[in-house]
Amino acid sequence: MERFAVLPPGVSAGEFARAVAEFRACVGAGHVYVTPEQLVPWTQVMLPFEDEAFAPAGVVSPASVEELQRLLAVCNRYRVPVWPVSTGRNFGYGSALPATRGQVILDLKRLNRILEVDPVLCTALVEPGVTYQQLHDYLREHNIPLWLDFPAPGPLASPMGNTLERGGGQTPYGDHFGNCCGMEVLLGDGTLLRTGLGGIAGTRSWQAYKYGFGPYLDGIFTQSNFGIVTKLGLWLMPAPPAHLTFLAMWPDREAVARAVETIRPLRYDGTIGNFGVLVNDALLMTSFHRRAEVYTGTGAISDAAVRAVAAPRGIEPWCYLFSLYGRPELIELNTRIVTTAFEASGARLIAGVHDPMSINELTLQAFSLLNWIGSGGLAWFAPVAPCTGADVAKQNRLARAIMDAHGMDFFSGATFNGREVLNVMPLVFNRDDADERRRARACFEELLTRFAAEGYGFYRTGIGFMDRVAELHGATLLDVNRRIKRALDPNGILAPGKSGIHPLPGRT
Ligand code: ADP
Repeated sequence: MERFAVLPPGVSAGEFARAVAEFRACVGAGHVYVTPEQLVPWTQVMLPFEDEAFAPAGVVSPASVEELQRLLAVCNRYRVPVWPVSTGRNFGYGSALPATRGQVILDLKRLNRILEVDPVLCTALVEPGVTYQQLHDYLREHNIPLWLDFPAPGPLASPMGNTLERGGGQTPYGDHFGNCCGMEVLLGDGTLLRTGLGGIAGTRSWQAYKYGFGPYLDGIFTQSNFGIVTKLGLWLMPAPPAHLTFLAMWPDREAVARAVETIRPLRYDGTIGNFGVLVNDALLMTSFHRRAEVYTGTGAISDAAVRAVAAPRGIEPWCYLFSLYGRPELIELNTRIVTTAFEASGARLIAGVHDPMSINELTLQAFSLLNWIGSGGLAWFAPVAPCTGADVAKQNRLARAIMDAHGMDFFSGATFNGREVLNVMPLVFNRDDADERRRARACFEELLTRFAAEGYGFYRTGIGFMDRVAELHGATLLDVNRRIKRALDPNGILAPGKSGIHPLPGRT
């Protein structure tokens, strides 16, 4: 009999062998992987946990929704838990790995058809494995003047995976979930559901109107384990006639509150077209330097060490990168408006800087962060603040103090969408060093606890932290989520532990 390195919990080696044989019958032996050597590409842990915590039992990769349905039936029969990923590039949140050990990764990258692009309505319908690069190339090849909005892992990642995680980017369409429209979802019990207007035979409005009739369900399939999304509608941005990217820079560390107070009205009244990102100088320095070149002291990097390399490059302690979009005359007018506003807050403004993510150019620049230390240790701490200077400054003070105490460098990259600031603070650490791994984990856990104690919630979190984050958002929410889970996935086979949602005990 085949030897498996890891078995799904509660499933015997014999049962798993039979399930694997059925998987092979569904998708072909070449698309089922179970040996440790074969699983290596899916097992990159960046988070501060031991690799074993998330070890998958296998990987299976279907090529069609029909194959996926057959696979799911096998999983239901043998109670094999499966963790769907679209492209598995969820770096710093878990990559392709499941939240608990012994799940089979359902890799959907072979479901990679661009089903439709409508250049009039400016919409698309894609399968899970379609990458941003692929869709970008398609638009170019067909001369369709629509822009994409990329998340940090840009070319490699998928609109599906990133939208389902409610990720964001840097154009006016940066709210990816806000700009999706219509889903096809395979529920845990095998039901194939189309949300919105997707249930109307022959409709041409599925990607035009999100809300459909009755309860609006799409949200329950994001950051969720209630279903496997097999098709996703997207709204795409018409290429703007003109655009101009700016960098506003404040010369003092205390400027962060002033910066937020200046940005908010310009975002709310639509002057600034994209979220923009407010970053500290340390984060910007990761694009130019490795840590060892800048700082060899103990503990977190000092402000003085950061200033020593940032100042010669003309980088101030706080920098806001944002863009204006629209007709040239509107950009001219808005340039005057933003210049007056930022200068009044003590900032210097540089026009015409190049930010690929704001202008439909693919880049992996954001992940120069991984070179800071090397070894691939990265965990995004992602608290939400109401959009006030006082809150963002308070969060930063609190985070800085906790990170200093644990010897972790303080990086901050805050984005502005609606009434909130996603105040994302990556923890970058040497994952090869067991002590540093432990410190990073302790730091992250303390950040979670102390932020929640101040009334702050979290935009997203990585595997390993999901149970704790779910607990912090309240027992009632978790209980309702588990009841929905039971209704839609009665055997509890879909991604147990995703967002802290585990199947109820006593599954049938
Ligand atoms: P990307 O590579 O686009 O950044 P991933 O494919 O890694 O994103 O997906 C991120 C997470 O979103 C996964 O870990 C999983 O929890 C969830 N997910 C991804 N694709 C699907 C899908 N098609 N259906 C349900 N959940 C999904």
